[in-house]
Amino acid sequence: MTNSWAKASLVAQAMGRTDAATQAVIPPLHLSTTYLRDPDNAYSSSYVYGRPDNATVRDTEAVIAMLEEAKAGALLFSSGMAAATACFQALQPGDHVVASSVMYWSLRNWLRTEATRWGLHVDFAETNDLDRLKATVQPGRTKLVWVETPSNPLWTVTDIAGAAEIAHAAGARLAVDSTCASPVHTRPLALGADIVMHAATKILNGHSDVIAGALAGAERDDYWARIETVRRSGGAILGPFEAYLLQRGLKTFFVRATAQAKSAQALAERLTSHPRVARVLYPGLPQHPGHDLAARQMENGFGFMLSVQVQGGEVAAVATAAHVELWKRATSLGGVESLIEHRASIEGPGTPCPADLLRLSTGLEAVDDLYDDLDRALNAAHR
Ligand SMILES: *Cc1c(COP(=O)(O)O)cnc(C)c1O
Repeated sequence: MTNSWAKASLVAQAMGRTDAATQAVIPPLHLSTTYLRDPDNAYSSSYVYGRPDNATVRDTEAVIAMLEEAKAGALLFSSGMAAATACFQALQPGDHVVASSVMYWSLRNWLRTEATRWGLHVDFAETNDLDRLKATVQPGRTKLVWVETPSNPLWTVTDIAGAAEIAHAAGARLAVDSTCASPVHTRPLALGADIVMHAATKILNGHSDVIAGALAGAERDDYWARIETVRRSGGAILGPFEAYLLQRGLKTFFVRATAQAKSAQALAERLTSHPRVARVLYPGLPQHPGHDLAARQMENGFGFMLSVQVQGGEVAAVATAAHVELWKRATSLGGVESLIEHRASIEGPGTPCPADLLRLSTGLEAVDDLYDDLDRALNAAHR
């Protein structure tokens, strides 16, 4: 297929690949762990073994590379965490890194524990404030700036172009966890980032049945090559069956992400005037602190994630989650089924997450049903 088609066209057909041997419209799932060597001892197919590489994985990577406009291509990992941690494992002991202070909780914990044992020096900064980021970056010593935008669970927005400028001036690279923005809303590489990371577990797959991670790179440089080595030698590649499911999920990614963002915007607007809701956090609301920046940096809407702070504090928040019927009470996000979560409970002691906060992942159900279910639960929680 030509690359002049729109992303929506290319993604709907997973780049239009078909099977040359059978004329099958859907390419086969390649499960083989090993490949034939030619009689002259060469490997003319370029495939040798399943840990470095797999044809189903490659086909799925091509879709993600297209979505992210990634010149270096994309790499699929066994989870979002495996993808994210590979970016840090590709650094040298003694290197300094700066990460968003409000970000995906498990990665923040990994940076505070494992990355430090690995010999990295980690500082956290409120990256939505570029002056603070600038003050935390150490020119010549900082090698990676890690930004999540909009970030869990307050949906804080960081200026990607501004952060890239600061990182590059200090001799560092910029990596963006774009899981909650997704390629429908934000193009981090076009804005100057060097690496984009996705928990493909979330909206890229969209059906809550695959754990997967992805990196997309701006340049095929030394750093990208080290990340490839980390994946190959550490054995963190995605399994072929998971890659097949992810490719299947990706075909509907554009319509899902667009529809889910539209519902999230409608819910955020309606919940703002709900008497039991103290505050709605969603970058698509004009009163959100990151709204103006999000309006410039994001397109096709503001994503499927929002949070509400409930009147009555933690007890009322937990009780609200207890009373929903259509929303599913579960962690994770980005699936076609809407999820609700009392975030502080899962993050545990020391979390910066407000105790009265419920995180909402908007799915594909009828938006009136989603609102009515929340309305009923909010009212029931106060009885
Ligand atoms: C889920 C998630 C991750 C981690 O992905 P896994 O596939 O669960 O390892 C990282 N960042 C964000 C923003 C996420 O939502």
